[in-house]
Amino acid sequence: MSKQRVLSGVQPTGNLHLGNYLGAIRNWIEIQQEYDSFFCVVDLHAITVPQDTKVLASNTLTTAAMYLACGIDLEYSTIFVQSHVAAHSELTWLFNCITPLNWLERMIQFKEKAVKQGENVSVGLLDYPVLMAADILLYDADKVPVGEDQKQHLELTRDIAIRINDKFGNKKEPVLKLPDPLIRKQGARVMSLTDGTRKMSKSDPSELSRITLLDSAEEIKRKIKKCKTDPVKGLEFDNPERPECHNLLSLYQLLSGKTQEEVAVECQDMGWGQFKPLLTETTISALQPIQEKYQSIMDDRTYLDSVLRDGAAKASEVADATLARVKSTLGFLTSL
Ligand code: ATP
Ligand code: MG
Repeated sequence: MSKQRVLSGVQPTGNLHLGNYLGAIRNWIEIQQEYDSFFCVVDLHAITVPQDTKVLASNTLTTAAMYLACGIDLEYSTIFVQSHVAAHSELTWLFNCITPLNWLERMIQFKEKAVKQGENVSVGLLDYPVLMAADILLYDADKVPVGEDQKQHLELTRDIAIRINDKFGNKKEPVLKLPDPLIRKQGARVMSLTDGTRKMSKSDPSELSRITLLDSAEEIKRKIKKCKTDPVKGLEFDNPERPECHNLLSLYQLLSGKTQEEVAVECQDMGWGQFKPLLTETTISALQPIQEKYQSIMDDRTYLDSVLRDGAAKASEVADATLARVKSTLGFLTSL
């Protein structure tokens, strides 16, 4: 039996942070051997909000290098850049023409990011989930490992696939495969260091809100020292009055590899003055091997280029076949 397929991606909108790692990439690594996995750097998604044209390409390259540094193995997985596979844009257009506008207006991410854009909010930001549906459905993906914030977009992807199957397919032969989200409970929503009620994000203007995978030991120390806490003595999980406490303990748990019970007992009598250095040391040691591997990958640009060239070729083969199938179903004249 052939393996099921997985697709996921991260936007090249800045350095990857602990939320991206614990909510998404770490899960990719864990499951990659079981699946035929495709991981893309979603640069077309990045431009749904303004990007500096001078850094978009280098952010795309560093994000791909980070996938490898975190442990994506090319024996099981394909790494590619979204804009290198033209089918993503083309299928998005086809989907645009069957997606009701009000489905998109309900999306939480659109509402949140649109506020920040004011009058300059682009049609692309509204259309973000349709592009994401194209990314996933092009690869007939069975599973999509993402953080909690992408759950609503996954539901929309399924709705688009169901609509196309109902309108244009038949029961025996659906046009598109329905994907399932793969959202792990632990780490699915890492919160900001400066506000435990908001998710950690690359696009948060405050550097202090996130720890990136490339932060130096000094930066990690400074950010944890300054992070928001509370005046209560004794640390605990799951107290809704103490979102920062839950978030920081969860980070410690995930980065140390301990169980929640172990951490709960270890930290129940601690104050912040004792816990912060512990979290700092644990974070530095967890990131050190990733940072070393990242450096060696970035030192070999020829290798990285070849990974992305091969990845684009492999991805195009799968994506172009799906695009041709959808176009034929929709009644387009086959290219002559
Ligand atoms: P941006 O602010 O530019 O949207 P981002 O930090 O939200 O960046 P994305 O590139 O949008 O990162 O998301 C990449 C992956 O990381 C997705 O699977 C997303 O669900 C996951 N992710 C993002 N932020 C978090 C977080 N705080 N906790 C857990 N997972 C997250
Ligand atoms: Mg995001």
